[in-house]
Amino acid sequence: MNNNVLWKKTLDEIQIEVSGVVFNSFFKNTKLLKIEEGLAHIVCPNNGVLFMLKNKYQSLVLKTIKKYGGAIIKNVFFSSSEQPTNSGSVGPLFLSEEKQNKERLFRAGLPPNLDFENFAVSVSNQMAHAASLAVSNSPGTAYNPLFIWGGVGVGKTHLLCAIGRRVIEKIGLSVLYCSAEDFTNSLVEAIRNKSTGLFRKKYRKTDVLLLDDVQFVSQRDFVQEELFHTFNKLRSEGKQIVFASDKPPKLIKKIEKRLVSRFLSGLVVDIQPPDFELKTAIFLIKARERGIEVGVDIAKIVAGHTEDLRELEGVLLKLKILAQKETKINEETIKKLLMYSDRPTNIKNSPREIIRLVSQEFGIKLKEIKEDGRKKNVVLARHVCMYLLKTLTNLTYENIADLVGKKDHTTVMHGVQKIINQIPNNDSLRRSINKIKSFFS
Ligand code: ADP
Ligand code: MG
Repeated sequence: MNNNVLWKKTLDEIQIEVSGVVFNSFFKNTKLLKIEEGLAHIVCPNNGVLFMLKNKYQSLVLKTIKKYGGAIIKNVFFSSSEQPTNSGSVGPLFLSEEKQNKERLFRAGLPPNLDFENFAVSVSNQMAHAASLAVSNSPGTAYNPLFIWGGVGVGKTHLLCAIGRRVIEKIGLSVLYCSAEDFTNSLVEAIRNKSTGLFRKKYRKTDVLLLDDVQFVSQRDFVQEELFHTFNKLRSEGKQIVFASDKPPKLIKKIEKRLVSRFLSGLVVDIQPPDFELKTAIFLIKARERGIEVGVDIAKIVAGHTEDLRELEGVLLKLKILAQKETKINEETIKKLLMYSDRPTNIKNSPREIIRLVSQEFGIKLKEIKEDGRKKNVVLARHVCMYLLKTLTNLTYENIADLVGKKDHTTVMHGVQKIINQIPNNDSLRRSINKIKSFFS
């Protein structure tokens, strides 16, 4: 099909979709100049039309031209036969584009702050990051579906949202982000209101579907059936689907085999828990985003102290409040802040059990913790006990002093401080502490 015929077919269909005024004002005098490297170049008669098409009708044009021109068309590019606008009018144009994007992000269900720019990459997440980038650069072709799995707080939702944002801002396709729970609830609601048609229009017409926490998809047959057909429809039309889950496909409970096989049919990548370096980098990014001034040393202290990124977020929240009162956050303030545990007390976090695990890890006798011995590893183990008792339970310094055979609670305070100081620079100590902590999470 030559370009003129292709463009005529495209316009004929667009004419049905938009009002007569819109069509005559914006579409009528446009031309398809060429298709090159997947880009359909469309010439507009003036800058006003260019602006409108680019910002308001890009996805409609792309969708329609793809329908007739096929999968070789990946995107549309608008230019104007008029002289470029002078710099005076670039300001508002730019602002308005930003505003439009914000609105599209909102409609897609995406938060405004999660993107690739503020996602730190390390060994634990580099595969998932690379696959997500590839998908966002050429949705529907790179890996379809992409299935990302990993534990709580490792950055799955962040990556899904980053994909969505990039697709909206750079490619101009439509995106829908939702959790499997939202999907389930909307479907149940649609059936109740007899509006499954609308439901399908929403979920089956999007160019990119980002389905988060897919382990929570309802076990009910009709929900799984709907997801199955949504998947098939989107995939058959070359639309991109990305799933996130806390487990790999085969370990998701009570999910139909045919869905599992769909999940497995593209690329499955995992994200491992962040290591110390990644936590440090993430802390720095997040602190800066919140306008909190902190240096690497402080970031390392926090990274060493926190087990996962959700906990790290908790520290940031408290820091933000503190930063409103104190202009500069220094090491002292951060250490004080970390000494207050707000982990819920767990019945399993029995002080005895903590002390037992520490003595086992450090290869000393249980009673040595309580005695006055000054051997280096005994002193270290005793301090670790103090630190873990303070952070894993809600015991006071006085209670802990009793437990470890000290008369004075300030000895415990110093012990806890010592460990907070050492964690960032001592790999083996950090590993030992994390190992013990993992029994209690
Ligand atoms: P999940 O969906 O895997 O449970 P989230 O994506 O919600 O985890 O991540 C938890 C928090 O950690 C979020 O605030 C997120 O922005 C942040 N986060 C996770 N990984 C990274 C990363 N690599 N870089 C920056 N922030 C991250
Ligand atoms: Mg998540």
